[in-house]
Amino acid sequence: MTARRKSYDAALEASLAHTRAWLDGIGERPIPAQASVTQVRDALGDVLPDDPSDPSEVVDLLATASEPGLVASGSGRFFGLVVGGVHPAALAADWLVSAWDQNAGLRVLGPAHVAVEDIASEWLLDLLGLPSGSGVGFTSGATMSNFTGLAAARDAVLARAGWDVGSRGLTGAPAVRVLVGEERHDTVDLALRYLGLGRPTAVPADGEGRIRPDALAEALASGGDGPAIVCLQAGNVHSGAFDPFAEAIQAAREAGAWVHVDGAFGLWAAASPAYRGLTTGMADADSWGTDAHKTLNVPYDSGIVIVRDQAAMRSAMSFHGEYLIVDDTRIEPYERVPEASRRARAVPVWAVLRSLGRSGVAGLVDRLCGNARALADGARLLDGVEVVNDVVFTQVCLTFGSDERTREVARRLMDEGSVWMSGSRWHGRDILRISVSNWSTDEDDVARSLDALAAAVREAG
Ligand SMILES: *Cc1c(COP(=O)(O)O)cnc(C)c1O
Repeated sequence: MTARRKSYDAALEASLAHTRAWLDGIGERPIPAQASVTQVRDALGDVLPDDPSDPSEVVDLLATASEPGLVASGSGRFFGLVVGGVHPAALAADWLVSAWDQNAGLRVLGPAHVAVEDIASEWLLDLLGLPSGSGVGFTSGATMSNFTGLAAARDAVLARAGWDVGSRGLTGAPAVRVLVGEERHDTVDLALRYLGLGRPTAVPADGEGRIRPDALAEALASGGDGPAIVCLQAGNVHSGAFDPFAEAIQAAREAGAWVHVDGAFGLWAAASPAYRGLTTGMADADSWGTDAHKTLNVPYDSGIVIVRDQAAMRSAMSFHGEYLIVDDTRIEPYERVPEASRRARAVPVWAVLRSLGRSGVAGLVDRLCGNARALADGARLLDGVEVVNDVVFTQVCLTFGSDERTREVARRLMDEGSVWMSGSRWHGRDILRISVSNWSTDEDDVARSLDALAAAVREAG
């Protein structure tokens, strides 16, 4: 065995052993971290060594020192933020991505990852019911997916107004109006800020957080006929609700606006015959952003952006370098995303899709939604609990009487540690949020979570 091979083998064996231990224990360990940042720093040691050490020892140190400071967010009882777990096919494929270490930006650097990316792209369009022939880019997450879709939007609506952003920038450009629902995700504003578009106009939403199409039409009509972008939402982080796409998109079309959809977790409803109805009309938009690291349970960092007009996507994201060996007749992977060099992010996406198949992806969505309903139904039976949203998808919001009592229940749950549901504020009230996003959540997890919730409610008095 060569020295090179030996060094890899020992480090990878250490990594595999620690991975197995982590995955084996994830269902039983306390979900919140048991060590603070300072404790982990102390365990790692923060003095840069003068001399080299063995890679396998480094892996052992990393795993041992970090372990108490990890959150078991891959547990079937983790319902915080919107956090997916890791499907086995995706995790194992992701290891290969690191081992192969391909630069996925260019065709010439790897026919293998381009083939995988092309197939995954076609499958995604098919599963999500989006126009075939759309451009699909693999980003780091939904923020960058929204950024990419909105960049294509900005450039296209300004080009229609006779302004080339690529060469002239935004200084002196016609003003672009961006309209969003008042309950859009905050990262939409962040993406708009990166794009130099400033703060969007917030359009009133209904009680579930869905943009009101009448209010959208009114806002569009009152702002003149300059370049406009409308950003809609598939999946509100509190209610799980979906904007009324058919009516909202019609209003946007009448005003000549580009329509982008932030579907970070909700876009996947379209892959399930049972939940597809929530997305009716959504495919008529111009661009869509989603995450694979949420609903699809691919490891971080994995987002997907889809733009109907490939040319608009390319002109917003592409750049030219004489040393790049490109095939002029085809779009290169780097021309669809903000990065030049990047890892082959499509590979774990492909692996989950290949492993689950069409019915498996639908089944995954159905299971998440079914578990959310079961948690809501179970919670309703507890003393003083109110389910404040219509549970149409994967999100559940609970209140427990007063804001103080709700915060007390949240605090007790976090202390107890067998389930993670976190607090938020929605419509002026403190709430406890449940977001079901993990492929592995089963009936036992639901039952144990409801037991923990019942105990916290009892103890909160
Ligand atoms: C999570 C989320 C985002 C941001 O996604 P990242 O993957 O964290 O960049 C945007 N919109 C919605 C609705 C989300 O749930």
